[in-house]
Amino acid sequence: MFDFIFGSDPKQSLRMLRHLAGVLSLFAFTLLGILFYNNDLFSIDEETFTNILAFFWIGVFVFTIIIRSGLNKKYTDPSLTVPQLLWGTCFLLTTIYLLNEWRGLLLIAYFGMLSFGFFRLKFREFLSLSLFAIFGYALIILYIFVYEPDRIVIKLELAQLVVFACTVAVMLYTGSSINRLREQTKEQYIALNEALEINQKLATTDDLTGLYNRRYFMEKLSQQKALSERDDSDFVVFYCDLDRFKHINDTFGHHTGDIVLQKFAEILKLSIREIDYAARFGGEEFVCLLVNTDIGNAKKVTERIRESLSSYNFSDIAPSLHSTVSIGISNFKQFNTIQETLVSADHRMYRAKQMGRNKVVFTDQDDAEENSDTVT
Ligand code: GH3
Ligand code: MG
Ligand code: MG
Repeated sequence: MFDFIFGSDPKQSLRMLRHLAGVLSLFAFTLLGILFYNNDLFSIDEETFTNILAFFWIGVFVFTIIIRSGLNKKYTDPSLTVPQLLWGTCFLLTTIYLLNEWRGLLLIAYFGMLSFGFFRLKFREFLSLSLFAIFGYALIILYIFVYEPDRIVIKLELAQLVVFACTVAVMLYTGSSINRLREQTKEQYIALNEALEINQKLATTDDLTGLYNRRYFMEKLSQQKALSERDDSDFVVFYCDLDRFKHINDTFGHHTGDIVLQKFAEILKLSIREIDYAARFGGEEFVCLLVNTDIGNAKKVTERIRESLSSYNFSDIAPSLHSTVSIGISNFKQFNTIQETLVSADHRMYRAKQMGRNKVVFTDQDDAEENSDTVT
């Protein structure tokens, strides 16, 4: 039922809700109008009164259909605030014309109606609508004064008109102040969101490589542990440490060292899937998390990484520059704690170093042939 009236699009539902709130208040005014009519406050016959009401409500119904069908989305203001208020103003002005000495009363209703657009309208729109109402009222009393003078006490009407215009002017002023405040709040909100985004990026990523930092990686690792325990899946962690990196720094300079680190980070990112995580743990040490993966698959991935770096051609930076990496792999299921899995991967990475570097090690046994992949 809710979906039938409001639809499933949250923005459209809100527009519909606002529209229906307006419709409800118009309904209350219509009932009041009928009460006035029954107490002979209008100078028209019943048929004209009914026709005017029907005509006005058909217009309201058209707005309901436009908003409910989504046709309103084509317009710059899909809430159709201005057209709806314009329609309401026309109805009010018609009623003002038809009423006798009570007509000034409806000017109060006009403020109620304007309040629907108070927070939505731009200053110009608000001004145009107000001027339309003021001049409309002025024209109506002028018309009545000229053609039906016995229906009007012109002094009273003019006084009402002036008070009405002054009150609208005050409302315009406060409205524009509120609008300015709204704009400022909106700008501050956007700036705050941007700052938050930057902050979040700074808090989760490593500056030099753009990979995740240690803190974020550890967070993801414990989340992954919980997931794996729940669905009984496995994941793999592998440590990478660039070989003789100090030598690269010493020979080619720190800046060149940084470029190698960035290149290796790029290789890591390209070698893992979107669902995996790569982080720089510090210095020339990196660590990756491969979710839903076993050691067999991880071996292929790490071997590809090792091979990519060792065969990478850095000649455009320095002709004799060459870099390799030692990698240690461990899977969570073998240890069942994050700490032990990490320590094991780190330990295997050191074994890779001991076995001559530029190697991938995935067990703790000493048989190099069986337990590691090496470059030949
Ligand atoms: P091994 O093969 O045993 O790992 O030798 P290594 O030289 O790579 O190891 P070591 O730990 O002795 O040296 C690591 C070097 O990494 C030392 C440090 O100056 C360098 N380093 C750490 N952080 C950065 C960085 O952000 N940029 C650069 N260019 N160098 C860094
Ligand atoms: Mg190191
Ligand atoms: Mg190193």
